[in-house]
Formats: sequence, C-alpha cells, structure tokens
Amino acid sequence: MNRTPIEWCRTYKADGSYEEGYSVNPVRFLPRGATRTTTMCQRVSQGCTHCYAEGITRRFWPKDADEGFHGYNAIGLLTGEFVLDEKTLLSVLKHKKPARIFWGDMTDLFQASVPDAMLDQCFAVCALTPHLTHMFLTKRPERMLEYFGRRSKEECYRDIACTEKQFAFVWRVQKRILDLFNSVSTEALNRAAEANNLTPSWPLPNVWLGTSVEDQAQADKRIPLLLQTPSWVHFISAEPLLGEILLEMELVRRDSLAAMLARYHPDRDGRIGDFLVAEGVVTREAVQIAADAQQRLMTTAQT
Ligand code: SF4
Repeated sequence: MNRTPIEWCRTYKADGSYEEGYSVNPVRFLPRGATRTTTMCQRVSQGCTHCYAEGITRRFWPKDADEGFHGYNAIGLLTGEFVLDEKTLLSVLKHKKPARIFWGDMTDLFQASVPDAMLDQCFAVCALTPHLTHMFLTKRPERMLEYFGRRSKEECYRDIACTEKQFAFVWRVQKRILDLFNSVSTEALNRAAEANNLTPSWPLPNVWLGTSVEDQAQADKRIPLLLQTPSWVHFISAEPLLGEILLEMELVRRDSLAAMLARYHPDRDGRIGDFLVAEGVVTREAVQIAADAQQRLMTTAQT
C-alpha cells in the first residue's frame, strides 16, 4: 500500500488541511518465466491513450520474463496470468487510521480477465476494515454491474466472506493480525469479527464505486451502468477530460445523497458535508445529525 497524491483520495479536516490517501494493487500479473509480479491491463477507450500505469509497467517489466512487454493490450494479457498478492491485502488490514484507499491505480480491477474470486477476496478485506473508505474506479462499469448486480445481497456476502475458502482467508489474516498483538484467544477473534462488522451488510457501507468518463459519449454509456450498481456512494472521475461533459446533477444527488448522509463521518469523509451544504443540497443541521450518529457508531465499534 503506497501513499498517493490523487486529490480525491485525500481526507480533509475541518480546518481545511488534509492527509493524502493510499493506493493498493493486490491483483498482480505474473508474466510467464518471471520470478516477480507486475501489473497488466487492456486499453478500452480513448481515455487510456496516455495511461501512466502502462508506462511504469513498461519501465519495470521483469527482465526474466519469457517475453518482453507488449503493452496494455490483448497480446500483453496472453503473456502471463493474474495472481492475488495476499501480503498486500494484509497491509490494508493492518492500517488502523481512517483513510481513503484507491484500489487498482495501476490496472482496472473489473477487466474480464480478473476472476470473481480475486474480487471476492478484495471485498472481504473491505468488509473487515469499516474504518477505511475503499474506492474502486473502473472504465468497465458493465463488469462492475455484473459482479455486484447478478447476485442477491445474501449471495454476495456469502461469496466475499462466508464461503469456506474466503471465510478461511478472512480468519487467517485476522488471526495473523491478532498474533501481532499477542491476543489469539477465541474470544478475541470473536470480538474482532464483531468490531469489524462481519454481520451481513451489502453493499458494504465503506465501499465507493466509481467510473471514469473522458467525454460525453462515455459519460452517457458508463454513468447509467454505474448508477444501476448497488453502492452507498457512486463517484465519477473525469480525467483525462477530452471533451465537455454535461451531468444530470439532480440524478446523481438523488441517487447518492441518502446513502452518503447515512454513513457520513467527517474524520473519514472530509468536506463532503460542507460541499453538500454549500451546494444547497442539505442543511448544516442534517449533516451534523449524520456525523453525530456515525461518531456514536464508531465509538461503539472501538469499545
Ligand atoms: S483502464 Fe486504466 S489502467 Fe487500464 S489501460 Fe485504461 S487507463 Fe490504463
């Protein structure tokens, strides 16, 4: 997990200062013949033309790989396979301070070649870290919708946390953390599970889903798919911006506002409340009530 200068990952404080967020890339790519992993993706639209991740991967492509780097394209994808880096997942679980985490800034986690089982394990970690805000951004909202939309709430939760495999994974990493604190009793494990909100809650309240739109055509195509995908908060990234985009702000607000307020926590979510008040979307009192309710919830979870 690394610090990232990406602005929308920052956590703002009441005085306007902020802390940078983090990026994390647990879904890695292992080229055939290589002893270390790298990242991989496939360009999908004009917004990928100057993909910074592709340039970084080109520079650091493993020298012992059977083939050289072909690029973020279909041929590149055939030169190896995606693997999940549990050590990186563990680094997210160890992070105790509230922060925003951007998952997959070097790839697109919702590209077709990333198996559901890897996404399940990423979301299992999100379920175990309710104090963190996890942000997933994709240029493939159709896959994101398919992943989140085709299963019922119960099925999704079972798949991320309760199937034998994922549940074993969740408990294994949880136990490893508790080992670090010399607290390995069953009671401690149960307390940790409870504090980590392992009771079914879907969509996960601390997960934000977003899509990148570089022009009006992609906005018209991707935003409706994003809004159909169950999430407490939807967000849009318009970078690189290749043309003017007109958004139906009322649609965005209606969809996200209730959910945003229901989970609002100023330490974690920064100035979203201020923004909504300034825009005339909600009153200052409504934001304060939501913040107080979240504070009570956080206090209960920590005791
Ligand atoms: S989807 Fe993102 S990571 Fe993948 S090629 Fe496009 S810009 Fe790069």
